[in-house]
Amino acid sequence: QSLSCFNFPFYRLPPINGTSTTGPKALCRLAFLFIIVLICVIYLFFLLTVNLLDSRSVMGDPGWVAYPKNGWEEIGEVDEDYAPIHTYQVCRVMEQNQNNWLHTNWILTEGAHRVFIELKFTLRDCNSLPGGVGTCKETFNMYYYETNDWALKESRYIKIDTIAADESFTELDLGDRVMKLNTEVRDLGPLTRKGFYLAFQDLGACIALVSVRVFYKRCPFLVKSLAEFPDTIPGSEASQLVEVVGHCVNNSLPLYEPPRMHCSTEGEWLVPIGKCVCQPGFEELNGLCHVCKPGFYRSPGATACSCEERHYKIESDPPSMACTRPPSAPRNAISNVNETSVFLEWSVPMETGGRKDVRYNILCRRVLPEGRGLEECGPNVRFLPRRLGLSNTSVMVADLQSHTNYSFLLEAVNGVSDLAKEHARQYVTLNVTTNQAAPSPVSVVRKGHTGKSSISLSWAEPDRPNGIILEYEIKYFEKEQDSSYTIIKSKETEMVVEGLKPSSVYIFQVRARTSAGYGAFSRRYEFQTSPYLTATSERAQASIVAVAVTLALVLLAVVAGFLLSGRRCGYSKAKQDPEEEKMHFHNGHIKFPGVRTYIDPLTYEDPNQAVHEFTQEIDVSFISIERIIGAGEFGEVCCGPLRLPGKRELQVAIKTLKAGYTEQQRRDFLWEASIMGQFNHPNIIRLEGVVTKSKPVMIITEYMENGSLDTFLKKNDGQFTVIQLVGMMRGIASGMRYLSDMGYVHRDLAARNILVNGNLVCKVSDFGLSRVLEDDAEATYTTRGGKIPIRWTAPEAIAFRKFTSASDVWSYGIVMWEVMSYGERPYWEMSNQDVIKAVEESYRLPGPMDCPEALYHLMMDCWQRERTNRPKFDEIVCLLDKFIRNPSSLKKLVNSSHRVSNLLVEHASVEGDCSSRNQTVGDWLDSIKMGRYTELFMEGGYASLETVAQMTSEDLRRVGVNLAGHQKKIITSIQEMRVHMNSASSTVKLCQ
Ligand code: AMP
Repeated sequence: QSLSCFNFPFYRLPPINGTSTTGPKALCRLAFLFIIVLICVIYLFFLLTVNLLDSRSVMGDPGWVAYPKNGWEEIGEVDEDYAPIHTYQVCRVMEQNQNNWLHTNWILTEGAHRVFIELKFTLRDCNSLPGGVGTCKETFNMYYYETNDWALKESRYIKIDTIAADESFTELDLGDRVMKLNTEVRDLGPLTRKGFYLAFQDLGACIALVSVRVFYKRCPFLVKSLAEFPDTIPGSEASQLVEVVGHCVNNSLPLYEPPRMHCSTEGEWLVPIGKCVCQPGFEELNGLCHVCKPGFYRSPGATACSCEERHYKIESDPPSMACTRPPSAPRNAISNVNETSVFLEWSVPMETGGRKDVRYNILCRRVLPEGRGLEECGPNVRFLPRRLGLSNTSVMVADLQSHTNYSFLLEAVNGVSDLAKEHARQYVTLNVTTNQAAPSPVSVVRKGHTGKSSISLSWAEPDRPNGIILEYEIKYFEKEQDSSYTIIKSKETEMVVEGLKPSSVYIFQVRARTSAGYGAFSRRYEFQTSPYLTATSERAQASIVAVAVTLALVLLAVVAGFLLSGRRCGYSKAKQDPEEEKMHFHNGHIKFPGVRTYIDPLTYEDPNQAVHEFTQEIDVSFISIERIIGAGEFGEVCCGPLRLPGKRELQVAIKTLKAGYTEQQRRDFLWEASIMGQFNHPNIIRLEGVVTKSKPVMIITEYMENGSLDTFLKKNDGQFTVIQLVGMMRGIASGMRYLSDMGYVHRDLAARNILVNGNLVCKVSDFGLSRVLEDDAEATYTTRGGKIPIRWTAPEAIAFRKFTSASDVWSYGIVMWEVMSYGERPYWEMSNQDVIKAVEESYRLPGPMDCPEALYHLMMDCWQRERTNRPKFDEIVCLLDKFIRNPSSLKKLVNSSHRVSNLLVEHASVEGDCSSRNQTVGDWLDSIKMGRYTELFMEGGYASLETVAQMTSEDLRRVGVNLAGHQKKIITSIQEMRVHMNSASSTVKLCQ
């Protein structure tokens, strides 16, 4: 019999009785607060827990099954809101052997491994039952059964626990309507299946199961330390912690290690490890990373968007770039003084400030004598490649004053240096004293009175004497007779040259000497002696003789005085020795003290002696070979560092002589070194030394990073400005000027024999007389025997082996063409025979594409058939310098209608650059045997062929051409010239 008469539901709480002492308003406020707190707690609770079953919220039939049918029964009750309450009761205390089961429906776990079961129930106190029923129980059992589908198999139920009431109720309680509602919670796990059933077994108690709630706890989605942790279901074991790796929020990165948290079975996040931080350029705001505002930046490690002290950012820096700072000072700065030039070199700063745009500035200051401070170097000092914004770690400072102290400030700067205060900039100072330097060349030589056998000359002091001029040297020879010349000396800037042939053209050159040695010779001046002995010239000559005699007497007296007093002046020794005062040269070279002249190693009987004299032996232990850079005729060419004790490490090229050489090969190999060792010029490859005392025999030269010029140009086709190309050509011309001044004829000048260093400085290499040609793949045997690089060689050298500096000038013109056409092969694929023939017929290479006209004119001048009409290397250097100073002179390009590649152009007889027109008027007059009037033309203002072309017979008379025959000859030639100028200056002919 069921005890349904017990006035169920007995779980309902009685209304709250009692009066409040607080006022209604305060009460209201308190209630409100209470409600808020309650809402929060509930929210939190529901955030952390997920109900899998709540019997109180099931709206319809919960589908629970009671067995036997007369055991557990559902009471259809409703709550205050008329929502159904599914309450199950059983109270068969009066009967023996009760076994009543109540099965829930299938409860899905939703992936939870451990669930909680909360039971709310009431239980009747057995003692309160009338008659004290012996079979009455005060507990019931709870079971579960796990399954992947809803099929129920009761036999598999596993007991969870026996549930007893904390508080049971009596009949009395019922009367008082005081309910004793028990709440028991059990946890269940590990669960491994999709779902489970719960069952409640009653063995004879009086129970009302008011609610059954099954839930699991979870760790909710969480953002902590800029890491997101997903909603996580705890582990199956009671005290287990599930480790969860967080995911850094957008624009943040893990700091050191990925962030982690641990999810407990209670649904709590515990033990945080690691964290995320905003990426550079972003700052943290409300748990997210926001991009820094423009102009602000967050360095790594900082928390807000702003640069740290002394760190800066410029507009163009990308947002993700760190704040940077100015670089520290350049390191290891060294100077290398060469006469009045200083080569400064340094290493990159220790601290680049975090930027890649480090550049260098140089401040040059002259130290004033007597401690008067410093003065900035003026505009005349040249910086190569420039003074400010240098990207390389070296600079050449040229045209300084000799014997002067300078102080150079080297500063490293980068993109933020301008933002830093002045004190943040760091300098390194280099103090330098320039050496003595030879005087610059004498630039103007004038002709004074001319006699039948004498010409009086005067000249200006060199622009840069670089010291006290001790004397001048005047070199002269009869035109076309340059194998024999005479040198005389003068302390003054004028001199009468005597003993000349009447009516003959002479070439004059002047150079100055200081204690530092001789400067370069002036350009060549052509003057002619008079054909007749006129009354005036006789008078002049007589007076010159008188002056000379007087001078000689005075000189004799002075010398006698010196001798008597026992005093001798070192530098005037030459004056006392008439043989030294006037020296004659014949093909060979005589060495003057202070005058450097090339000495042919062939003149040494023992070639080893030449090697010993001109080269320095280097111990092989100072050289390390790092890699092979090329192949020479005698063996591999390698590079590596040379570490001479007490000297800075230097990268060098190492030419080796392969094993198994003959004595002749060894001699030939070292020949080049004994030639190179005699040269010392920035545009000639520098010999560091030789290794002859160990094997393999080596030649050590400076290392040229960019290798040979022809390959370098081909590799960088079209990459350079015209000024850069002119700079390269200027370097080569300067090196060649030096060689020709030394009396050395190269014979194989070609772009393949020029080496280029990292600063684009070109240096002449490949020395060694006939060997050079044997070695050169371009050289071919001529009909007269001997190998000649036809395309580069002047016609007279090909035809009768007349190799001179003038033939080197021809080759130089070809090199210019190679440079301007970025390594194109001269005369393309024409055969050598065709080249010889075409050149012989006056055809020449056309101007390369985009070649300035002035440069092409210079090339054409170098290819004058008549070798004496070709410019000299010093004139070439001078002209190229003019172009560099005045780049607008290179604006006009070779007329494209005349420039057809693969076609040769006919060499025009009247070609020449405007800046060398003085010379050209002379050449033209010479060519019509009227050279004697050159001076008169110049004095009359007819310095260029353009002005000459306008001359009339009247003009000729005015300048002093009085002889009718001469007038006629000159006028005819002028008329021809006009015709020539009006027609196209060049005609084009297909080379075949
Ligand atoms: P050579 O025997 O002088 O013609 O040298 C053969 C090759 O070695 C040249 O074409 C260059 O590529 C390379 N070479 C020779 N000397 C140097 C140097 N001083 N610096 C760099 N490369 C060099």
